[in-house]
Amino acid sequence: MSLRVTIWNEYRHEKEHAAVRRVYPDGLHAPIAAHLAGQGMRVRVATLDEPEHGLTAAVLADTDVLFWWGHMAHGEVQDAVVDRVQQAVLGGLGLVVLHSGHFSKIFKRLMGTSCDLKWREAEEKERIWVVEPGHPIAAGLGEYFEIPHEEMYGERFDVPAPDELVFVSWFQGGEVFRSGCCYRRGAGRIFYFRPGHESYPTYYQPEVLRVIANGARWAAPEAGRPTITFGHRPESLEPLPGPSA
Ligand code: ZN
Repeated sequence: MSLRVTIWNEYRHEKEHAAVRRVYPDGLHAPIAAHLAGQGMRVRVATLDEPEHGLTAAVLADTDVLFWWGHMAHGEVQDAVVDRVQQAVLGGLGLVVLHSGHFSKIFKRLMGTSCDLKWREAEEKERIWVVEPGHPIAAGLGEYFEIPHEEMYGERFDVPAPDELVFVSWFQGGEVFRSGCCYRRGAGRIFYFRPGHESYPTYYQPEVLRVIANGARWAAPEAGRPTITFGHRPESLEPLPGPSA
């Protein structure tokens, strides 16, 4: 069965800023969706302005991996939807958080820290070093790749130490950043991938798209969502033996 991916995009910059629309006329989700569909994945797009932000229980139940891009309207995401996505991740849904999604309610909820960082918009070169070359998310990449112009994100990135760190970015201005971070929460896998400022054509770059596809495959639950029972011990089990006489 093909991987079921839902790409959640806030989709406001593209509507409100002509400069962003010139780069991503159909939304920044469009080149990502096209690439993943070309990899044989079943792709759906959901956006902030849809009812329930397009993330109904039915959509989440029909999703293996959820992508998240947001920036200017994190505060408009309803807490009930954040709760629903968090429960889905704990139950095995894969989550790939892109760029400014570091400040989304769902990422902060799952990390438990501020997720703050340094930033600067100065059209700098970014060199993304692969620090875990055997990791599935780095498959097909060389020692590093470069993005000609990007927004700088710098340390400290206030997140818990990643379970697996795949990429470290260097920027022309001298900063470094943990730009490919893997986490496990409950039964779910989470991948944070840094690049993707809305005014640069980052999501058309082949290496970036390769990481995104690798990230989707890594984050997907391996054999469907596990069944997790919290609370009472299932009654179908034999009772525990009592204290011996
Ligand atoms: Zn940005």
